[in-house]
Amino acid sequence: MNFVWRTEKIPEPQPNEVLIAINSVGICGSDVHYWKHGRIGDFVVKDPMVLGHESSGTIVKVGDQVKNLKSGDRVCIEPGVPCRKCEFCKGGRYNLCPGIKFDATPPVDGSLSRYYCHDADFCFKLPDNVSLEEGALMEPLSVAIHACKRASVTAGKSVLICGAGPIGLVNLLTCKAMGATKIIVTDISESRLDIAKKIGATYQLCVKDLDTKTAITKVKSMLGGSPDITIECSGAESSIRLGILVTKSGGVVMLVGLGASEINIPIIEASVREVDIKGIFRYANCYPIALELVSSGAIDVKPLITHHFTLEEVHKAFETAHTGAGGAIKVLIHCSKE
Ligand code: NAD
Repeated sequence: MNFVWRTEKIPEPQPNEVLIAINSVGICGSDVHYWKHGRIGDFVVKDPMVLGHESSGTIVKVGDQVKNLKSGDRVCIEPGVPCRKCEFCKGGRYNLCPGIKFDATPPVDGSLSRYYCHDADFCFKLPDNVSLEEGALMEPLSVAIHACKRASVTAGKSVLICGAGPIGLVNLLTCKAMGATKIIVTDISESRLDIAKKIGATYQLCVKDLDTKTAITKVKSMLGGSPDITIECSGAESSIRLGILVTKSGGVVMLVGLGASEINIPIIEASVREVDIKGIFRYANCYPIALELVSSGAIDVKPLITHHFTLEEVHKAFETAHTGAGGAIKVLIHCSKE
């Protein structure tokens, strides 16, 4: 699919919305996937669509009913706005709302634009010591916070993280902030494992060319036993199998990576050892926690920001995110004209 420039009038915020001058937009794997393949599962791009859902900016106008924000506020944007009425919304798990409108998931336009309107209660004011660039990373960080909470990562736990892409790396930062003491990260790319080491992994294991049995032995010998929790962030079948087989009895395997829709896993092993297999879908109520962790210094997301492009360079930015050229982890597009 091609990128085209669309020039439109600056939108007017609805009474419950704010108009935001977008500053930074991170490119997510799903943006790249829609660009390259035009679909993710049942979500199919049928009409031209604006990408981008990891965004921050400055409010330039507020709707009549907006009380929590004002012009000039710097915000990060939580991209999924649910119906607020269904049982999932009322139960606090609004990420499961069937009516959720999520930016850059067809047919909903994303925020990769100069100006963008969003519901005010899904915009979060950035603390003074959090930059707009960091604000754009609150989206992937929220994925990690949701995963670590559902996996019950707490002080003293040992964790295996499979995959050192942006999502594996934000999980690493979050596990550390939540008190995990021994964290081993796997990948098939040495350069990605180098970044995991730089931002605090206790051990790194390159699983390229390793059979499952050898990988299990290596993980156990590095940790001095089985991990309490595995957070799978690659989507690879071999990695999910490793997670189930190596996790301590009574532990948790958290499926974050979204790979093939059907795979072979050692399910009896999970049953008889009470290894809970859980999944996550995005996040709910995690943006305030993400901001608190970054603002307090408990998490530093800056080392993950590797590349910067202007909105005019969008094609180059997406190519970089797609190929991972130059060690790309998080590629940011800057949308303001300055
Ligand atoms: P990415 O492709 O940049 O990173 C995946 C990493 O896994 C790469 O570094 C790759 O080399 C590594 N890898 C591949 N095979 C491996 C294996 N066998 N063992 C260990 N590592 C292996 O993707 P990302 O942006 O970091 O996202 C990771 C996954 O999380 C994707 O599948 C994405 O769709 C998913 N995701 C899920 C949610 C959710 O809500 N569940 C949200 C965001 C992203």
